[in-house]
Amino acid sequence: MQLLSVASEIFPLIKTGGLADVVGALPAALALEGINVRSLIPGYPGVMGALDAAEALHQDADFFGGPARLVAANAMGLELLVLDAPHLYARKGNPYTGPDGKDWPDNGIRFAALSRMAANIGQGLLPDWVPEVIHLHDWQAALTAAYLVYDGKARPGTAITIHNLAFQGQFPPALLPQIGLPPQAMSLDGIEYYGSIGYLKAGLRFADRITTVSPTYAGEILSPEFGMGFDGLLRGREGLVSGILNGVDDLQWNPATDRLIAARFDRTSIQDRPANKLALQQRFGLNPDARAPLFAVVSRLTWQKGMDLLLAAVPVLLAAGAQLAVLGSGEPWIEAGLRSAAFANPGRVGCILGYDEAGAHLLQAGTDALLVPSRFEPCGLTQLCALRYGAIPVVARVGGLSDTVIDANPMALAAGAATGVQFQPPSSAMLEAAIRRTVALYRNEAVWQGMQRAAMATDVSWRIPAKHYAELFRGIAAKAG
Ligand code: ADP
Repeated sequence: MQLLSVASEIFPLIKTGGLADVVGALPAALALEGINVRSLIPGYPGVMGALDAAEALHQDADFFGGPARLVAANAMGLELLVLDAPHLYARKGNPYTGPDGKDWPDNGIRFAALSRMAANIGQGLLPDWVPEVIHLHDWQAALTAAYLVYDGKARPGTAITIHNLAFQGQFPPALLPQIGLPPQAMSLDGIEYYGSIGYLKAGLRFADRITTVSPTYAGEILSPEFGMGFDGLLRGREGLVSGILNGVDDLQWNPATDRLIAARFDRTSIQDRPANKLALQQRFGLNPDARAPLFAVVSRLTWQKGMDLLLAAVPVLLAAGAQLAVLGSGEPWIEAGLRSAAFANPGRVGCILGYDEAGAHLLQAGTDALLVPSRFEPCGLTQLCALRYGAIPVVARVGGLSDTVIDANPMALAAGAATGVQFQPPSSAMLEAAIRRTVALYRNEAVWQGMQRAAMATDVSWRIPAKHYAELFRGIAAKAG
């Protein structure tokens, strides 16, 4: 089976968050299920620079305001189709914002172009390779489903995966003629969303199936509390909505072979792990104290991730004799709060503000516990990496966090099944209670090591999720065909 995956990011070429990890890892996992995936991505400078033998498959003198090529290439084991349109993508900055941190003013055009190209491929632009299903990721790819429906031609099946409902892609209605959709599309049962063009809405309205990245989040988004304005639309299509957990790339995230950590270890050699704790303490300017429970965070520093709750909980964490290491970047007031917490508590709170892939590996290998106090979390990847590295996740019981971590309640502990600590609702009081509970568990060495072993035995790979995706795609293809 042939599948086109469409996304604005793909690891390791271009990444701002978990979306890239998923888009980068799924093709190899799906290949084992007999699905041949090609990934369509924009030709940002970082992508164009990474392509070796690129072959132009198609050229267009005027594609959304400038010349464009569709290029086929292999890079880092990925089969790519790259939309090389310098007027849209050849820019410094990240995929969505310029160096000043502001959204590119033409984002509506940039991602309409990506979606238009995906639809063209679905309609047979490349006669030698016509996908049976197109897998759309988030709002940047979502318009594909609308193009295919409004064009009214023979089309492949479509599935859209919501990685985060908070990012919706809304643009002024004046854009409609430029993105090449008909006036009748601008209606409530089309792509109109509260007076704007809703890109994600278009995907949710027109894709054949809707998935999100955990079963619990798939249920949550049907409610007004988590639906972010889409719960009504999603309830209307409820039978088509499902949740498939993310996995992590278990070659890249493997503590037994990881070259980015200080000491390698596995489930049978957990005694070798503490060298990483020491290295992590050094890296974050913390006291080299093997016995102090070490909590860490690797995250975007935002309200969604509950980082304000964390700031409020720092005094309790310190009173419990623990240390805190934070790696991340995000909202300036949270960054400032962390900086002053580190300044006020030298040797006990450390933060590194920025993005550091190697640092994230050392953090997972060295920390005792990983804090994820998110207010909502579609899946979450950091707690999956934590499980694999024997770091105990301490998580809010929302979305994918509730599906992936087994709380250390008395029954789970007795059964040897506990892999972490959950708390709810996401509030600083509940986070503080969870921190105290975690420290108590940590002080009981036998219990803690049992949890570490159970955590490391958890299958967080793509093996099982890929089977669910394969089943979904085959179902869509059978219907479309
Ligand atoms: P989201 O996609 O909402 O940001 P996820 O937990 O799904 O959150 O994925 C985040 C990914 O980005 C993980 O792979 C995590 O390790 C990584 N990450 C986040 N912040 C940093 C950082 N500052 N340095 C390195 N990796 C980071």
